[in-house]
Amino acid sequence: MSAEKEMWMASARRIVFSSPTSGPDRCIFCQIVTRNASSNIVYEDERHIAFLDIYPFSRGHTLVCPKEHGETIWDMKEGEIAELFRVAFKVSKAVVTAVQADGFRFVQNNGEAANQVVAHVHVHVIPVKMEDKGRFSDRRKFTPAEMEETAASIRREMAGS
Ligand SMILES: [Zn+2]
Repeated sequence: MSAEKEMWMASARRIVFSSPTSGPDRCIFCQIVTRNASSNIVYEDERHIAFLDIYPFSRGHTLVCPKEHGETIWDMKEGEIAELFRVAFKVSKAVVTAVQADGFRFVQNNGEAANQVVAHVHVHVIPVKMEDKGRFSDRRKFTPAEMEETAASIRREMAGS
């Protein structure tokens, strides 16, 4: 084994954030869970919450999170990961139907190197239209009213599923 790899194996945290935003007290997603930060929530159960990304790649771009704080998917147990993706699967159907998309992406980033911005595990559900095929569109900004309208239509689909 190379010395470099040995060092990597020995380090306590192999998935790195240069300036951790974490600690449940300071984590924005934990604050959304406790309602100390506002968001457009589309789904919630005992252990999960789903809300619109505040700076979405497309209308309906939703984040699905476990409520319990953990930085990356490596902090979760296998069964919890299965549950998280079961919720993400349900959310994807509601999102795609609500915004009449033609497909969607699941994106799950771990670590700053992978562009994970908030150090609390989350799965992106990003609906895609045929005209956006093959390109990763720029992030967009919608008005609060547009965000709430989108969230409401996703909530209706979640309730109906
Ligand atoms: Zn958190």
